[in-house]
Amino acid sequence: MKKISQKIFDKTDNIFFKDYFLKKKNFLNYSNEIRKNYKKKNFINSINKIQYILDFLRKDKFHKIVDLKNIIDVKEKNINFVAFRCDVDAGVWSLEKMSKLFNKYNLSVYFYILINSYYYGQIFKNNIERNTFFFNNYLSKLKNENQKVGIHNDIYGLIKSGHNGVRFLKQEINWLNKKNYNIISSSAHNSAYVYGAENFQIFKEFSNSINKKFFLKNYNLKTGMMSQKSLGLTFEANFPLIDLQKKELRKYFKKRNDPIRNKLWLKNHFLQNPIYTSRYDVDIWVTGKNSWFIADRKGKKIYFNKNINEIINFLKTEKGKKIVVNLHPDYFE
Ligand SMILES: [Zn+2]
Repeated sequence: MKKISQKIFDKTDNIFFKDYFLKKKNFLNYSNEIRKNYKKKNFINSINKIQYILDFLRKDKFHKIVDLKNIIDVKEKNINFVAFRCDVDAGVWSLEKMSKLFNKYNLSVYFYILINSYYYGQIFKNNIERNTFFFNNYLSKLKNENQKVGIHNDIYGLIKSGHNGVRFLKQEINWLNKKNYNIISSSAHNSAYVYGAENFQIFKEFSNSINKKFFLKNYNLKTGMMSQKSLGLTFEANFPLIDLQKKELRKYFKKRNDPIRNKLWLKNHFLQNPIYTSRYDVDIWVTGKNSWFIADRKGKKIYFNKNINEIINFLKTEKGKKIVVNLHPDYFE
């Protein structure tokens, strides 16, 4: 896996990429390699775990499932509102199963796709060769199952690797809209740990001047280079409220812990983030096989490495919270 990805992500090796990804067989082989690797690391759950949560939410009178775009507008004292979000980092293998499941429950969930991913296509200096196999066999099926598509925004990743990120983001949103994907939402990939700013800070709506100096040197990264509105985007999945705590910034960037599966990082990122807070109360993420975490901003608590029943128990004991469950398709099959 490592050997292949090093080879593939070598920018100078365009021919290899074409031979590899843009052919159905090789694309599937590669996606399978990643899947096997995730399995070896014990990251992958059965899709039944999602069904288990959906069954609970559907039957329990104290819970309502809402569309992600409405999560900050809903309010009822005794009800937990739950919205789902799927950030597609790599795991295209579970897209069909997941979208069928959501459709069976009459849900339409946002699947956020990443432009600079192996599945989307190959990025050259001035254009993108899109992976038609992915669009025909994965993304269109997702739409057939009434699911929605958004952009998993990694604009600083694009810029860092020498691309005109602003141009590509605009171009791909336009292209997807022409194909009737109706892109109205983005979700930021990675975090400020990686680039010095959150990917959504490319938008004027969430920019600020202060964390500029923490940006990685040698890259001309700026915040606020365009407006969310100008791209036709109406909401960012993190619902960020920029709440810059200058004093805390240096500390935040110094503590470069291994993210996602590290309790300290999760606490820093979700509860004590010096750049922003999300305008809903609780994040629930799956991070491995039978391993979930809860970041409860309202309750000021992180629950780490929990199994599915502990997630259900949390939901049962809480009331009046707005909860976003991020189900990376990478972690399911
Ligand atoms: Zn991501």
